[in-house]
Amino acid sequence: MNINRKSFLKAVTGAIGAAAVCDLSLPSLAAGQEKARIPSKATRIRDIELFPNSMAMKQTIKIAIGTDIAADNILVRLRTEDGVVGYGEASPYSPVTAETQASDIAIGKSLVPLIKGKDAFSLARIVAEMESFTPGNASIKAALETALWDICGKVTGQPICNLLGCYRDSFETDMTVGIDTPDVMADKARGVVQQGFKAVKIKVGEDPARDIERIRVVRAAIGPKIKLRIDANQGWSPSDCVHVLRGVAEQQLQLCEQPVVYWDWAGLRFIRESVSTPIMVDESVHVAHDAITGIRENAMDMINIKLMKCGGILQAVRIAQVADAANMKCMLGCMDESRVGLTAAAHVVASQKNVEFADLDAFLFLETDPVIGGMEVRDGVVHMPQGPGLGLDVDPAFIAKLRAA
Ligand SMILES: [Mg+2]
Repeated sequence: MNINRKSFLKAVTGAIGAAAVCDLSLPSLAAGQEKARIPSKATRIRDIELFPNSMAMKQTIKIAIGTDIAADNILVRLRTEDGVVGYGEASPYSPVTAETQASDIAIGKSLVPLIKGKDAFSLARIVAEMESFTPGNASIKAALETALWDICGKVTGQPICNLLGCYRDSFETDMTVGIDTPDVMADKARGVVQQGFKAVKIKVGEDPARDIERIRVVRAAIGPKIKLRIDANQGWSPSDCVHVLRGVAEQQLQLCEQPVVYWDWAGLRFIRESVSTPIMVDESVHVAHDAITGIRENAMDMINIKLMKCGGILQAVRIAQVADAANMKCMLGCMDESRVGLTAAAHVVASQKNVEFADLDAFLFLETDPVIGGMEVRDGVVHMPQGPGLGLDVDPAFIAKLRAA
C-alpha cells in the first residue's frame, strides 16, 4: 500500500505509541515450558458478540449444487478492554463447508472461551487452539480470526494487508452469472460488461449440451476481449467435462473451475491430460494440505481460495504460499459475504503475489450493504481501503437492528 511520508510517520508514531501501551515482548521459552504473556488492555478481548445476520438477495443465483436465495450470515464483533472494536463475518454454505447459520452460532459460542481474555496479537495461538478444538467449521473461525486481525491493525494503525506485507493496492474482480437459459445468461453477461467488468464468470455444470450452448452464446454477447471463466461446481463427470471443453475450444475460456466432484483427483488429472483449458479447483481444496494433495496428484492448474472454506486469513495465506512454491496461481473467491467478509478476502489478494484472480462480487447480489468504508469496486476493479485493520466500519443503525445470539 502506497503511503506518503507524512502519513507514514503518523502511522509509525501510532504504532510506537501502541507498542508502548502493549506488552510486545516475546515469552521466554525454557525446556518446553512457555511463560504466559500478559496482554495489554488495548488488545485483550473483553466482549465477543455473534449476530445472526440474514440478508435478502437482489437476485437468486443458481449453481450446479443448489440455488442461493438468501445470505444467512453471522456478523462477529469483538471488543477489547480499551474499547477497540474488531469485525468479522461468516457466510456458511452447507453444501461445501457443512455449516449453517445455526451451527456457526453454536460453534461460535463454544469458541468464545478460547478468545475471551486473550491478547489479539496472539492470533496464531488462538487460531491453533480453535483448530484443536474443532476441525472444519471454517466460516465461523474465519469470522473470529478476521475480527482479531481488525483489532491488530487498528492498534498498530496499519491496514491488514500491510501487516501481511502489501503487494498491490488494487486488482480486477469478475462478476458471476448464475445458471439460466443461454439467452438470459447472455443478457446478464452483457450487463456485467456494461458495468465495467473485464472478466465474467458463468455457472455451468447442469447439462453438457446446454452448457456448450451457454458458453457460445455468452461469448458472442460479450465479445472476444472480455475474460470468460466457467464454474461447473462439481456438476460434470470427467468425460462430460472433456466433451464440453473440446466443444468450446474456440471460445477462449480463461479457466474452468471445479468441473467434477471434489474428491475425484483422478478425474481432474484425466481432464488436465485431455484438454488445454486451465483447471482451477475450488471445492477440492479447503486448506493447505488439500493443495499439497492436488499438486502431488498433478490434478490442478490453479486454486480458488475462500476464507469461508479455509478458516481464515492465516490459512488462506498458507494455501497461496504452498501454491506459489508449486509455481501455481490462485483466485480469491467468496460465498455470500457482505463487504465485511469481502474486504478481509481483499486484504489477502492485496498481500499475495500469486493471487492474480479475484471473484469478490457477492455484495453486488445483496439487498443490503451495511459497510461504511471497506473495499470498493469501480469498473470491475477492487480498490483497497486506506484505514487501519479491515479499513471499515459497520453502520451502527444496521447493528442496532440485529440481535446478538
Ligand atoms: Mg467455485
